[in-house]
Amino acid sequence: MSSNQGYSITTYRFRLRCSHPEWLIRTQELYDGIVKFYYDLLLAHEELWGLNSQEILRSLEFLSLPGKEKRSPQTPLPWEDVPPYFRRAAINGGIAAAKSFLSRKRAVDDADRNEAEDADTDRKADGFDAYPSGEKWIFSRVSRAGIPAEEIHSAVVYYSRMYRDFSSEHITLKVWDGEKWNWLGCRLSGRDFPQNARMLSPSVVPEGSFLMLHVPVREPVENISPVKKRLEDGGNICGIQFTNGDAFAVASICDANGKETAVKFFNGGLEYSHHCRKVLDKISSSADSLGDSPEGLANRKYWVHLKHLREHYAHQVSREIIRFCEEHHTDIIVLPKYKSDYTRNVMKGAGKWSPLDLSTRVRSYLRYKAWKSGIIVMETYAGGTGTVCAKCGQPLIEESGKSKECICRMGHRVNRYLNTARNLAVKCRRQFQERESG
Ligand SMILES: [Zn+2]
Repeated sequence: MSSNQGYSITTYRFRLRCSHPEWLIRTQELYDGIVKFYYDLLLAHEELWGLNSQEILRSLEFLSLPGKEKRSPQTPLPWEDVPPYFRRAAINGGIAAAKSFLSRKRAVDDADRNEAEDADTDRKADGFDAYPSGEKWIFSRVSRAGIPAEEIHSAVVYYSRMYRDFSSEHITLKVWDGEKWNWLGCRLSGRDFPQNARMLSPSVVPEGSFLMLHVPVREPVENISPVKKRLEDGGNICGIQFTNGDAFAVASICDANGKETAVKFFNGGLEYSHHCRKVLDKISSSADSLGDSPEGLANRKYWVHLKHLREHYAHQVSREIIRFCEEHHTDIIVLPKYKSDYTRNVMKGAGKWSPLDLSTRVRSYLRYKAWKSGIIVMETYAGGTGTVCAKCGQPLIEESGKSKECICRMGHRVNRYLNTARNLAVKCRRQFQERESG
């Protein structure tokens, strides 16, 4: 492997068809039961919380299984003849869910009241918590922040020995039919796996009335040369500024000589907040008419809809930014960085479900999408980038609130956000050069 190579992981999704879909449901139920068992077991053993996942896994097995020496375990696993690889996948699911719960609980305990309220909005928005856990998504229904999940649903991950004959058209899975384990042949439809890729453990995920197979695919990525090398080679920098208006983001690309080569506004912010508002209205009117609380079960579908809206737009915006950067041969994307209390206040002012609020998610999607395209994402403190003209460096003296246009002392007129994006790209390069010469 050359030193300029890294890896990226993308989830490929296949439609799965088989003669016994009900066996997959039985398998899922068994898996959920085992995940929940180990989740509870870990939460009951505080002395294990500080260990790493591998040590926790071994300890949980010791507590629940007789082992080779046929001990009587302290808390025996209530299911027999569970294949070891199936059990291990479920234990890892339980550990991930418990760790996430503990870190959320710590955050809530530590935080002041405002932050606790923010966390609460997030929870309602999701209806249930969803968080990535290595190769899969886990959903756990929580009753209240700080209280352990009553049930956990975690897509079954098929470790090696739980599947065979795997291609982009077919897989044979080892599944539980309620009485015994069977090999079940399944047909797959979706795109082909890329060359040189490695398929990681697949999972079966129900989506509406379909069964899907999610497969994390590991691919080599070229060009991971670090920032320093890229700037020395005369790489292009794309400065990004997020806004709370119709533009989710504004981008300005500048080349090694500091010359701007491209500009783009990524619009759709007003459409997004309009969609969100319509769903929020439905939640409040449904809560009124049912006498239910807004976060009650009847409104779950609306919260899920909101969550999907947020993900859809965040994916779309980040995808458009990456495409733009690829078209203009960008090496580095630079995002504005702020002090955390500043971010908190600005986000609060912008409001949940606003275009600016979406930027948090766009940032994280940009990171992994950029990595796949061989682009580095960095952050530079935004201080000073909003107060001077990018063209001449003179202070901005006037701003029209409505058009977001500002004028500098020399009379240059420019969109305020574009001006900031330009300054950010320039600041990023200058800081690097100063570090090099100093
Ligand atoms: Zn100027």
